[in-house]
Amino acid sequence: MIPVTKSFLPPQKEYQTILKRAWDQGWITNRGMLVKELEEKLKAYLEVPNMIATTNGTLPLQIAIKALGLKGEIITTPFSYVATTSSIVWENCTPVFVDIHPDYLTIDEGKIEAAITPKTSAILATHVFGNPCDVEKIEMVAKKHKLKVIYDAAHCFGVKYKGRSIFEYGDISTCSFHATKLFHTGEGGAIFTRDIDLHHKLFYHHNFGHKGQEDFYGLGINAKMSELQAAMGLAVFPYLEEIIDGRRKAVELYNELLSTSGPKIIKLREETSWNYSYYPLIFESEKQLVNIKEKLDKSGIHPRRYFYPSLSSLNYLKSQEVPVANSISKRIICLPLYHNLGKRDLKRICSILN
Ligand SMILES: *Cc1c(COP(=O)(O)O)cnc(C)c1O
Repeated sequence: MIPVTKSFLPPQKEYQTILKRAWDQGWITNRGMLVKELEEKLKAYLEVPNMIATTNGTLPLQIAIKALGLKGEIITTPFSYVATTSSIVWENCTPVFVDIHPDYLTIDEGKIEAAITPKTSAILATHVFGNPCDVEKIEMVAKKHKLKVIYDAAHCFGVKYKGRSIFEYGDISTCSFHATKLFHTGEGGAIFTRDIDLHHKLFYHHNFGHKGQEDFYGLGINAKMSELQAAMGLAVFPYLEEIIDGRRKAVELYNELLSTSGPKIIKLREETSWNYSYYPLIFESEKQLVNIKEKLDKSGIHPRRYFYPSLSSLNYLKSQEVPVANSISKRIICLPLYHNLGKRDLKRICSILN
């Protein structure tokens, strides 16, 4: 069976050696030495000044909305994982969808201004498949209208844009370290901001609002990463180059073997140093996609329809017009991609597709 992705599992002995440090301390959560060590390693690797490790990649979105005090409408993308939209609704704000760019698949920066109303408080956009949004244009629009900017950068581990970590853009960026993501801690995630005061606020929000044992800075929730999760992260960390390199090779082979007259691959934004996180293909019609997916499924190859359906059709929302996102979400599929996807398997996938 060839799934859409496979988690990188470090050698179990190495994981256990790291876990033993938690055992020896008798300390398995509440920001022990493993979480702190993982944060230091990741900050250095990603070249970011601040980072908070969290227990998943969804709570950071909710905490970001809370920390920025957002109210009313939040402009967002209909082409993302459901967590992007559900976090807005969970925080009692209203998602207002702006359609996506037909090539980059990120929010269409040219259509944002038209969606702004007196109730708009922020833009929450996704760097989908690790492809950066037009962060410069979005920053301009946000400044002009005094809006906050949050990026759901769940797919962006290691991505750089114009030489800087993509996590450096916007007021707050979030990441996911879920088992299906490029770098993972089983379940896990992170929050990033350059603003040290905001960092402090995000920090206390993620830990019940605690100020020491008996005092509180303010409201909080529990989004702490445990030592058990951090141990997984520390065991995966030394293999990052290997993981990314394996994915890069698979992507290059797909590019080489897939017939150029068929479905389209997505366009990466210029000056992006990408992380090879997904291999999306856009078909001419949904019929063609369903047809191919059936053939692949029958051969034990299981691509996934990321992201389908468009989030604007969620049953707890009023439907909104986003024709590009509706059309693309019906015609896009992510091919299997992981660190050790073998050449023979990859050739088999391509020959069926071609
Ligand atoms: C995976 C993902 C999330 C959620 O992350 P979890 O760690 O699973 O909570 C949020 N947004 C996007 C775009 C994702 O792909």
